[in-house]
Formats: sequence, structure tokens, C-alpha cells
Amino acid sequence: MKIIAIGRNYAAHIAELNNEKPAQPVVFMKPDTALLRKNAPFYYPEFSKDIHFEVEILLKINREGKYIDQKFAHKYYDEIGIGIDFTARDLQSQCKEKGLPWEIAKGFNGSAPVSEFISKENFNLADLNFSLRQNGELKQNGNTSLMLFPFDEIVAYVSQYFTLKKGDIIFTGTPSGVGPIAIGDKLEAYIEEEKLLEVEIK
Ligand code: MG
Repeated sequence: MKIIAIGRNYAAHIAELNNEKPAQPVVFMKPDTALLRKNAPFYYPEFSKDIHFEVEILLKINREGKYIDQKFAHKYYDEIGIGIDFTARDLQSQCKEKGLPWEIAKGFNGSAPVSEFISKENFNLADLNFSLRQNGELKQNGNTSLMLFPFDEIVAYVSQYFTLKKGDIIFTGTPSGVGPIAIGDKLEAYIEEEKLLEVEIK
């Protein structure tokens, strides 16, 4: 399986990092070794001093497809989840300064905690609330109506370049409020009122 992630998909988050608003989705990948499942803890790596949380809605691809038409894109995912796109902001800033790829800042071991996946049927995907708490304090509070590129546009766009396969996961971008984590922290991520993911930082 592969993990495809979208950067800069919420205007307020673009502003907080002083990034430019993209004309097309910003796409990067994480390897399968980035996955953390079943609320497994995250071990703070020694190569960074500034790991940030980014809470994001996930799509789970349910069948193979490429060059997917946007109007059929909804047929390629039945389930959604919530995940954290851990980012080594210090390494990413160095890469960005030099115009280099971000992989080491985004795809390191454990950089992709994901929740269980749940049926999309009971949700309005165009108006979905999601949030992240750090040690009980609300830090990020997003709504999918604020995405620059909605889910179906993302699926159509990335499938031009990468054949999507059953089990692939798409991270759809983070709202504003990203911030650093520290050893001992407890992160909790919610879709609407339901807590679906917990990560302890060790
Ligand atoms: Mg992200």
C-alpha cells in the first residue's frame, strides 16, 4: 500500500506557514513504514527538535483506478478516518530553503498515525468537522468545507500520476493550528464528536 498526502489544502494553514496558495494540489508520499496503527505510541526521533502535529481527514481507497474522472471519484472510497501527518518542521524548512524534496521531513518512521476507518455514509463529507487535542487542549479545529481541493478533486488529480490501489490511504491536508509535540504529550483526534485516534509521544 502507499500513502499519498496533500499539502497546503486549507487557506488558514497556508497563511500560518507563509506558503503560497497552490494552483494545483501539492502532493507528497509517505512509505508504509510511516504507518502507526491501533493507537501505537510515537517515539520522538533524535534527528529533529521540532516535530509538529497536523491532523487530517483520511480517505481509504477501495479499488484500483487511474485517470479517475472527478464525477466518479466518490466510488473509489467508502471509508474515512483521521490521521496525523507528523512533520519534522526543522528538516522541512531546510529542504524548502534549498528547494529539495521533503521526504525525510514527512516520511520518517511513525510519521503517519491512522485511526480505524469508518463508513462515509453517515457524514456530509463537504461539511465535516474534525479536530485535534493536545493534552486535553483543543489545538486544531477544521471543517472540510474550507478545503481548496475537495476529496473528489484530490482523487482525480493524484490518480493521473499514481494508480490508486485498494488499501491506499490519502491524507487530505491540515487546517490551521499546527504545533510542536513533546515527549509525554497525549494527542487525540476526532471526527465530529467521536474520538477515533490517540497517540502518546514517548
Ligand atoms: Mg499535512
